Amino acid sequence: MDPILEVRNLHVVYRSPRGYVRAVDGVSMTVLDGEVLGIVGESGSGKTTLALTILRILPSNAKIVSGSILFRGSDLVSMDENALRDYRWKRISMVPQAALNALNPTMKILDHVLETAQAHGIRDRKYVIERISELLQMLRLEPERVLRSYPHELSGGMKQRVLIALALFLDPELIILDEPTTALDVLTQRFILDLLKDLHRKTGKTMIFITHDIAIIADVADRVGVMYAGKMVEIGDVYTIFRDPKHPYTKALIKSIPSLVGSVEDMKPIPGFPPDLINPPPGCRFHPRCPYAMDVCRSREPPAVELRPGHVVWCWLYAKR
Ligand code: ATP
Ligand code: SF4
Repeated sequence: MDPILEVRNLHVVYRSPRGYVRAVDGVSMTVLDGEVLGIVGESGSGKTTLALTILRILPSNAKIVSGSILFRGSDLVSMDENALRDYRWKRISMVPQAALNALNPTMKILDHVLETAQAHGIRDRKYVIERISELLQMLRLEPERVLRSYPHELSGGMKQRVLIALALFLDPELIILDEPTTALDVLTQRFILDLLKDLHRKTGKTMIFITHDIAIIADVADRVGVMYAGKMVEIGDVYTIFRDPKHPYTKALIKSIPSLVGSVEDMKPIPGFPPDLINPPPGCRFHPRCPYAMDVCRSREPPAVELRPGHVVWCWLYAKR
């Protein structure tokens, strides 16, 4: 598969009263055409910032310091607003985190859809209704009922599916889903995950699936990137990462999930806390929590080591010193 998106040494900071938050700090990754890439990491590891940077919809206190994001070869970082308009939502779309609150409570779903279409120059009401109905049906919703409802008349799972349909409306090549099931109960979560898998099978759409729950990644993704404190620490295909994780943080993350280790008794929470990204520890950011930390880890950042094609780990245990 060819790359659709290549993120190269990306650095993004937020200005805050205490200083600069280094939210994404030297991240590199490739997304292949037609795959589901999972991005996993604890809260605050920079996953949402990475997604907002790809779409160039960061808040005003954020700054892309350096790096590039090549979408089919064109750099989104250096692109001006005019050129970006052809990419955002049309070629790359996103279901944002906390999406359930994203719908205006005073507008019927049909009006949301018409407004979205109009914002992209589509004014043919008949076409809009046909297109959204087809998508809602694919997501197992009854179009007529849903389109004439207000958001409060729909359940959480229904609203989430409406937002997925809206993100698919312009037929983007890449869709970023930021914690699409987190706010839902377990049964609805399962249902939405199955729908997303089905959607991927039917459309072959490239997806970036962001979650803090590594168990979900095992279920939906082809490859997975593990983030820790603004850094990518390991990336590879799901089978390899779950069968033979290399980075101590990935190993710890897998051991912290009861459904993956077998029982709650065998579960081992990761001791300590993620670092403050205004003043992160020198060297490897995981070193204060890492049982294998060596002297070099406390002073020098680990380089990327490609263990086998497509499996990359950023850890001194595997690097030449
Ligand atoms: P979560 O799953 O909790 O959303 P995340 O992995 O998506 O976490 P981000 O939301 O990208 O992480 O946050 C990365 C870091 O940037 C955190 O330290 C967070 O506090 C900080 N941050 C995020 N948004 C802002 C902002 N608007 N201003 C200042 N700091 C921010
Ligand atoms: Fe642990 Fe060192 Fe590897 Fe960091 S670089 S994860 S501290 S062994």
